[in-house]
Amino acid sequence: MQKIRQQSTISLLENMEREFKMIPMEAIVKQDILRQGVNFTPDSLKSDKAYKTKDYFIFSFDHVPLADMKKGEDTKAPEEIRISGGHFNLASTTISTRNNPNSPYMVNMVEGKPTVFLNEVNLGELEYPPIPPWYRHKTINGKIPGEIAPVIEWGYLIYLTVFRNCQYFGQEEECAYCDINHNYRQQKNAGRPYTGVKEMDDILEVLSWIDKEDSVAKVYTITGGSILTNLKKKTEVEFYLDYARNIEERFPGRWMGKIVCQAFEKEDCQKFKDVGIKIYHPNYEVWDKNLFEKICPGKSKWIGRENWIRRIVDSAEVFGPSCVIPNFVGGVELAEPFGFLSVDEAIHSTKEGLDFFMSKGIVPRFTAWCPEPYTTLGTQAGPPLEYFCKLLTAWKETFEKYNLPVPPGYGEPGVGKAVFSVSAFMDVIGYSGRS
Ligand code: SF4
Repeated sequence: MQKIRQQSTISLLENMEREFKMIPMEAIVKQDILRQGVNFTPDSLKSDKAYKTKDYFIFSFDHVPLADMKKGEDTKAPEEIRISGGHFNLASTTISTRNNPNSPYMVNMVEGKPTVFLNEVNLGELEYPPIPPWYRHKTINGKIPGEIAPVIEWGYLIYLTVFRNCQYFGQEEECAYCDINHNYRQQKNAGRPYTGVKEMDDILEVLSWIDKEDSVAKVYTITGGSILTNLKKKTEVEFYLDYARNIEERFPGRWMGKIVCQAFEKEDCQKFKDVGIKIYHPNYEVWDKNLFEKICPGKSKWIGRENWIRRIVDSAEVFGPSCVIPNFVGGVELAEPFGFLSVDEAIHSTKEGLDFFMSKGIVPRFTAWCPEPYTTLGTQAGPPLEYFCKLLTAWKETFEKYNLPVPPGYGEPGVGKAVFSVSAFMDVIGYSGRS
């Protein structure tokens, strides 16, 4: 039986507010907006003030294909929205934009200001992110900065997807929730500049402007798809290491360097550490053994879950446990047709994974699963809001149980301050609860 997407209503949000008192209301609303996406009216995309639009920095993170966006969302939707005030009197909360023309969260203009409504109820005014001053330049090769080194998280993170494809290809190997290859194709088909493999010179040129003109960006991430054989005659480690080495040689310690890639053996991790990378994200995606095999068939076949987990644990000896931050895709463990049938089973499994890593000082983070249309899992209902409230509560409880430090490289934690926009894990840190 196919699940039906749980409708968002004010009474659903109020029920969650009453039930989950250890997480702030800002986190609850954030997760629901991420879960449902945002429906922009044409007027709300015509702000007088220039703002930074979605750069499609790695995946689409949209609920519909670009071709189905008829109101200009594909080129005009802001990268993120910052909501405040409204029915719940929210503190300023930063949320990644996931376009969904069918979302109940509708953005319209009220007295010249974009404002988000849920079924006619005003949930708060919105800000759109500023355009960094250095976005006005073009590289010698004619590339625009938003294509080569876009910023997200309100300008805090420089996101370097240096390889915009993945060599896990097709349903037998691609991770079932991932649209990296499909997004690349749809961007190219739409006639956008969208470079498959980024040139080192372009990246260094854009970074030189950021170095001179920017004081907001504090970290950079090097990432891209997996490389199984070689790319440009380099192995996966050599390929990604080259970018890290070049950046750190040219701008030593200017920003905190992170790498998001496969789980490598300790010797290879050491190479990244030696060139100056501080944070390692060997994403484990989903904890349950059976689901890992089904949802990450390529990783399962080429590396295997046991090896993957062992390598994550080993990498803590290189980077230090607090600097190993593996991601999981929150909610994918409920995806049809493989997933758990109940929220409680999903949370039970995921909490086991959180406890496993956090007991060793490693702090997993999560992104909220967006059921993108071109993925193996395809468009589907996705988890109910209750799942995300339980997940945030479980994450916070486990984090506090082991008295862990705030994950480095995410900016300030807490309500009104967190800039990590694709889940609310940073928003819940330090929240003392409500009566
Ligand atoms: S390894 Fe999986 S999640 Fe990563 S880019 Fe490839 S298909 Fe996507």
